[in-house]
Parts: sequence; C-alpha cells; structure tokens
Amino acid sequence: MLETLRRIIQEVNAARDLNAALEVIVERVQRAMRAHVCSVYLYNDEREEYRFMATRGLNREAVGKIVIRASEGLVGLVGERAEPINLDHAPSHPRYLHIEEIGEDPYQSFLGVPIVNQRRVLGVLVVQQREARRYDESEEAFLITLSAQLAGVILHAHATGSLQDLERAGLATGHFDGAAGAPGVALGTAAVMYHQVAFDTIPDRDAGNVGHEEQRFLDAIVSTRNQIQDLKTRLSGLVPEQELALFEAYDRMLDESISGEVLEVIREGQWAEGALRRVIENHVAAFESMNDEYLRERGADVRDLGHRVLASLQESRHARVDFPTETILVADELTTTMLSEVPLTNLVGMVSVRGSRNSHAAIMAHSLGIPAVVGAEDLPIDLVEGTPLIVDGFQGTIISYPSKEQRAHYERIVEEEAALVEGLVEIRDEPSVTPDGHQVQLWVNTALMADAYRALDRGAQGVGLYRTEIPFMMKDRFPTEEEQRAIYREHLEAFAPNTVTMRTLDIGGDKMLPYFPIEEENPFLGWRGIRVTLDHPEFFLSQVRAMIRANEGVDADLRIMLPMISSVTEVDEALRLIQQCYREIVEEGVQVEMPDVGVMIEVPSAVYQAVDIIKRVDFLSVGSNDLVQYMLAVDRNNQRVASLFQDFHPSVLQALQQVVDAAHAEKKTIGICGEMAGNPASAALLMAMGYDVLSMNSPNVLLIKAMVRGFALGRAKALLERVMAMDNPHLIKNMVEQELRDAGLGRLLRTGGKP
Ligand code: PEP
Ligand code: MG
Repeated sequence: MLETLRRIIQEVNAARDLNAALEVIVERVQRAMRAHVCSVYLYNDEREEYRFMATRGLNREAVGKIVIRASEGLVGLVGERAEPINLDHAPSHPRYLHIEEIGEDPYQSFLGVPIVNQRRVLGVLVVQQREARRYDESEEAFLITLSAQLAGVILHAHATGSLQDLERAGLATGHFDGAAGAPGVALGTAAVMYHQVAFDTIPDRDAGNVGHEEQRFLDAIVSTRNQIQDLKTRLSGLVPEQELALFEAYDRMLDESISGEVLEVIREGQWAEGALRRVIENHVAAFESMNDEYLRERGADVRDLGHRVLASLQESRHARVDFPTETILVADELTTTMLSEVPLTNLVGMVSVRGSRNSHAAIMAHSLGIPAVVGAEDLPIDLVEGTPLIVDGFQGTIISYPSKEQRAHYERIVEEEAALVEGLVEIRDEPSVTPDGHQVQLWVNTALMADAYRALDRGAQGVGLYRTEIPFMMKDRFPTEEEQRAIYREHLEAFAPNTVTMRTLDIGGDKMLPYFPIEEENPFLGWRGIRVTLDHPEFFLSQVRAMIRANEGVDADLRIMLPMISSVTEVDEALRLIQQCYREIVEEGVQVEMPDVGVMIEVPSAVYQAVDIIKRVDFLSVGSNDLVQYMLAVDRNNQRVASLFQDFHPSVLQALQQVVDAAHAEKKTIGICGEMAGNPASAALLMAMGYDVLSMNSPNVLLIKAMVRGFALGRAKALLERVMAMDNPHLIKNMVEQELRDAGLGRLLRTGGKP
C-alpha cells in the first residue's frame, strides 16, 4: 500500500496542471482500490459550493458542470464534518442527493473523505461501489492518507494552473496568500532569483539569444563530461568495476537523449537552465513511475547527472544584471546575498516562497523598508518571471496580473503611506516623550551601512542591535580582524558619540555563512549564537578585538551584546574573553574605554535567571523574536504555525515584565530589540512595563515616536494592568489596538487593505 501511495503522489506531483493532477488521482485511486467509481469534488470558499471536477466511473460529460451547495448532499456533509463518511447503502441516507446527469444510480456504497489543508477543506475525494458493502478500515485509512498528501499538491497545482490560464488569457488576475513579511505595498515586475544548483527553483525564462544559450549548454556538456572522466579516473581501483559503469551510462545519456532534447527546448525559446530542468524532470518522472524498483532508482541517477550539468552551466552564468526598473525580487528562499545582487534603486518589493514573518529575510526587508510577503508557498515560482505583481506586505498577499482597479487601489495605498511618513517627518527632531513627560529611548537595529544612513535620516539616537553576522554573510570567507575593524569603525563613526550596541556573531538557526555550513536536524535548538563562538574562541576574540579597536579615537558609546545566552556559565566565559581582549589591547598601547557588556534575553531559561545574569553585566536586551519562538515552541520560520507566533501571548507578556523588574532591581538599563519594539501596539505595552530602550528597524522609528508622543504613560499603565489580567492573546491584541484608536492613533496601525 505504501508503495502505491508513494507512486500516486509522485505522479500527481509531476502533473502539468490541476486538471491533469485530478485525472491522475481518480484513475490511480480507482485502480488501487478496485472501486467502481472514484471522483473528486473541489470546494469554492467564496461560492460555498463543490464542483464535480474529475471522475472514473460516473458520467465524464458532467465534469466541470455539476455543482453541489455546501449544505447539500453527502459530499457537502463530508466537508461540513471534515471527516470521512463510510456508508454501505448511500441512497437511504437523509443527505443523499440525487443528481440525474451524474449517473450514480447503480452505486450503493459510498466512502467520502475530506481533502484538508491547514484546517481548510479544499474538496472531497469519493469512491463508490455497486454492491452494498462498507469499506473496511484499511481502505478508509488508505484514502485518508492519500487525501492528506494530496491537499498540498492540489493547492500547488491549482495555483500553477491558474497562473498558466492567466498567462494564456492575457490579463486576468491571480491571488496568492503568504504572510506579511514587511509592511508596505509595491507594484512592479517579478525577477526570480534562485539558489545555485537547485532544480526546483529554476524559473522558465526567455532564451533571449538562442545561439548563445545553445553554446552555453554545449560548453556545460563538455565540462560535465570532463568532470565525469576525472571522477572515473580517480575512482578506478577504489570502487568495483560495475559501479564505474554508471559513468559510462552518464556519458551515453548525455549523448543520446538529454543533449538533443535540451537543445530542442532551447530552440523553442527557453533559456538553457530552464530547458535542462524541463528535460531532466520529465526523465526523472518517467523513471520514478516505473514498476521495477531498479529502474525507479535510475531516476536518482538522472537527477544527479542533471545537477552536474546545471552546476557547469551556472559557472558560466554571470551575476544577473538585467533587473526591471521596479523589481519585485522573488525567490524560493530569500537570502542576504541575493539582496546584495539587486541594485537597491530598482528594488521595490520582495517575495519569499519559504519563511515567515519572523525569519531573517523578512527582518532584512523590514530594515530596508521594502514591502515583502513571505511563506507564499503556492506561488508557482517557475512561472512568474517577468509577471506584473503587486506585493501587499500588510496583508501578506500577492496579486499577479493586477486589474486596472486593483492597480488604482494599491497606488492609492502607496500614496497614503508616503503621506503618513511625510506627516511624521515633522517629529523627526522632537523628543520621544509621552504627553505626561516620560521619556523612552528609540534606537535602531542595523546590519549594513545602508541601514545606518537611513536610521540617521530618521533621527535615530543610537543603535540597540547591530547584527554583525550580516556583513559576515556578504563575504566568501571569514573577514579578518582588520577588515572587521574597518566595518565596525564606519558604524561607530556614523553614530558617535551615541550608543552602538554590537552583537557578537549570531550564526546558526536560519543564519548560515556560506563558507561555514552547519548541518543539524534541529538548527534552532542547536549550535547557534554564543554556543558557536565560545566553541571557537578564535572567532570570538578577533571579533571583540575588532570592535574595541574600532572605537579608538571615535569614542562612540560602544556596547557589546551576547546572543542566545541560556546559562550564567556562558556569560562568565564570554566576559572572561572580553576582558582578556581589552587587557591585550590596552597593553598594545591603544587608548580605548572598556565597553559595557550586555546579554540578550531570548531563551526562557534566561528569563528565569535574569536576576543572576544582570548582576554580572551592564545591561539586558530582550530578543523577543527568539524569546517568543522558544517560549511558545513555534518555529519563527514556519508559515504553518505562524498564527501561533503571538507577541501578545500572556506568558510572553509576563516574561517581559519579569525581566524588566529584574534589571531595574539592580538599577541597570533594559531594552528590547525584537520586532515587538517596532509595532505601535506592543510598543505601548513595553513602554508601560518600563523598558528604557525600544530598538527597531529604522522605518518604524517615526511611527513609534508618534505613538509615544500621543499616548500618556498613565494611560499605557492602566491598559497594561487590564491586559495582565487577561488570558487570551487575540483579545489582548484587540484591546490594545482599540485603545490606540481611542487615543486618536489609529492611523499608526497600518494594515493596508484589500480592494
Ligand atoms: C530576536 O531574536 O528578537 C533578535 C533581535 O535577534 P534576531 O532576530 O537577529 O535573532
Ligand atoms: Mg535572536
């Protein structure tokens, strides 16, 4: 059974579009279950009805024509209950609906299972039998398992199909949902970028110069052949002869089938990478659907061969330079390096198929002030190159081929946004003080010099978090102490004499250095942040030395901050190393002050030990992105659980209050540098809790300043008191937002909106 399941899923995955996928499903399920009938009904949320989409056994003429209201029939009942219905004599059930044209009169037994994705019913899969008999448990289990796997495939095929239809039809519109990555709205043209050597993210693209593409491909074949020869020579004598025969087979495949087919697709106007992907995928699918296990395994060989040719092709690929004037960067997984390839003057929006609101791609977008949608898993990335797109970073939606009305609607939002920012510019140099005289420091989070300049532009008074790993990611090896010193110095000079809080290298989790890969099953619970740098004191020492030396003669208020601390022993060890660096530097004759050292509170254990930690250091800063992730056990990158990532969760609020109290009891300062600090609603609560510093992405500084200047501390404290007695995150969020509206600050709660 498992094997049959696997095969069906593979075939469905390889289907061209939704209809082809549904045809495969009904055909294979009918056969596998020896059913007389197998049909699929798909649900339309807006119209609240099921459409008869594919069948084997019933009247195929009726496909696409019959609709059943959600409240009708056994199909409707399966959807309503979201659970299987297994009947030996369906016609006698009160919900049985007789539809003449569909031709189900002869069938007595009925088994319908819902096709569900993330609590949403997408459709119903039905098998029927002539004789009156109940399907047994194993048959029911088979259909349930299959339908659970099909949900994702159907969603994707739906999206792919609809975009293809749109392309054919010209200018109809498509909607794709993701999560709000960074606020704002952008109108532009999609430019797809992909990771090196990853077939599934290679887009279709126009060949441009066909002759040139052919030549690139032929060169790649020559170079792949040479590599295979080399490999064979190196391995001969080391592996059995029959294993080496694989290389002969590779050679033949390149010669006989693959090259000719790829060249044909290129001549039809497809660029070399796209043509190669199509041909390899077809071959892999053909092998993988074979019954013979040996032949099925050959699919993996073809894929491997394909990757080798692709790698050779990509060596010849120069960095992309042809970005549309209003580029919406689309990638399977956005990385900082990709961002660095697009001229910032062209970049208006970003879309990442993977990731969620709290992943670093979103944070980068946020800090650059670029609207972004992340976790847009249904966007058919290989088809969107060159497509006109609207990115709605408030709602987390993408619109392809927008209509005139949609364009007009979103252009209006862009104008309103600009007016809001414009309106806030007048408070740029005003103090961030509440109407009842309470001052809150509003600082910025930075990563690149571009952020620093933008931050200064918005009147930022200091840096609460400098993510030093980002400049590390832009390199192809570890930067030397001297290189780091120069980078840090620029930052310190830009803000002197104000505070610049430099965080020591925080890699691991979802932040990888291309030249220092860390492969783990559970990277967020693994070798991350301070754990890596304490295990590699040579990185830590050279970074800390670079930070301290960078301040020579600049005299900014440099502070050093430690990420991912989960116990005091890490603090003690890091402090010992920092003090060692400082002593050495002074002995070398450099005149600098010992920087303040602080700890990020991002792990629940650090909340409970905040009292012990603060006694050892000068300040604390809460990394709420990670703290929420670890407290609520919700992966900050996983779109599937994004709705559970709740800043207003009562446990989170209690932890945040506890940490402030611990710091203030020792008369030390405490800030917060997670995304919560840049959201007017959560920032109001943080201010009431007593946070001295709110550090955020620079595009939010004026927004938060407007909140602070319009919302009295007394009012915020009264609100906090009410909130702390509540137990439901949604109600808390609503209450805080309503209070801001009542205070006349509703315009700061930016949400955009669908037309
Ligand atoms: C955080 O975790 O809240 C934080 C500020 O650090 P990062 O987002 O870089 O992990
Ligand atoms: Mg963090």
